[in-house]
Amino acid sequence: MANIIPLFASTGQSIVGCKAILIDDQVFVVVAQLFGGSHIYKYEESWTKFVKFQDIEVSRISKPNDIELFQIESETFFIIADSSKAGLTTVYKWNNKGFYSYQSLHEWFRDTDAEFVDIDGKSHLILSSRSQIPIILQWNKNSRKFLPHGEIANMEDVLAVKSFRIQDSLYITLTRFIGDSRVMKWNSKQFVEIQALPSRGAMILQPFSFKGHHYLALGSDYTFSQIFQWDAEKSLFQIFKEIYVQAPRSFTAVSTDRRDFFFASSFKGHTQIFEHILVDLSL
Ligand code: CA
Repeated sequence: MANIIPLFASTGQSIVGCKAILIDDQVFVVVAQLFGGSHIYKYEESWTKFVKFQDIEVSRISKPNDIELFQIESETFFIIADSSKAGLTTVYKWNNKGFYSYQSLHEWFRDTDAEFVDIDGKSHLILSSRSQIPIILQWNKNSRKFLPHGEIANMEDVLAVKSFRIQDSLYITLTRFIGDSRVMKWNSKQFVEIQALPSRGAMILQPFSFKGHHYLALGSDYTFSQIFQWDAEKSLFQIFKEIYVQAPRSFTAVSTDRRDFFFASSFKGHTQIFEHILVDLSL
C-alpha cells in the first residue's frame, strides 16, 4: 500500500517559488517568497521533517520571480530571478556547508524568468526582463563566472523563457502577455524565430512531450488556452486543441508507465488534469 503524507508546510507569505534540491543524499527545499525573506529548508532524517537551514540575504532578493536549479561540472547551483526595481538576480552555489551567493548577474532590470540551457555543450543562462530584451550569459571556464554573451533582439517585455529539444535541435519559447509569443530555434550562431503565436493574456507558454509527440501550451487569462502540436513535416506547431482554464499559471506533463497526464494549475479557478490519449487510426 502506498500513501502520501505531508512533511512540510511553509508558513511563509506570498510564496512565488519552491524547488527541491538533492545533494549527497540530503534534501533541501528553496522557498522564495515576496515577504519575510527567502529561505532554504533541509530534511532532517532524525526529526523526520524539514527544518530551516539558512536564510537568503534579503538585500539581494526582494521580489523573487523564479528559481532554477542547474549543475556545471558536477557542482550544484541555483539562480533566483528578481523582478523588483532594485532587484539583483543572483546565482547561489553549494560549498558543502551551505549555499552562498556566487554571482550577481543583473541589476535593476526587473527580471521575470531564468532558463539554464546547454548550447553546443556550453552552459548558458537566458534571462528575461520587464525593462529590456532577453539576454544570454555564457559560463566562462577560466573565470568560472557567467559573462554576457548575447541578446535576443526585438523581444521586449518577455515574461518567461523555456527551452526544449526536438531530435537534435534546440528551441526556446518566449512568453508575452499580449502581442506575439515566439518559438525560436538555435541555428548554431543565434536563436532565430520560427513561429509567432498571438497571445491574449498569456502568462505561460509551456513546451512538453509525450512519447515522441511534441506540444506547446499557450495560456490565456482572457479566453481559451491553446495547445499546439509539432508538425514534423512543416517543422512548425499547428493548433491542436483549445482548453479552458481560468488564469493558467503552469502546465505540467506527467507520465506513468502507461498513461500520460497534463496538469493545468489555475490562479483563480479549478486546477485541471487532462489525459493524453493516442488513437490508432490504422486499426
Ligand atoms: Ca524559469
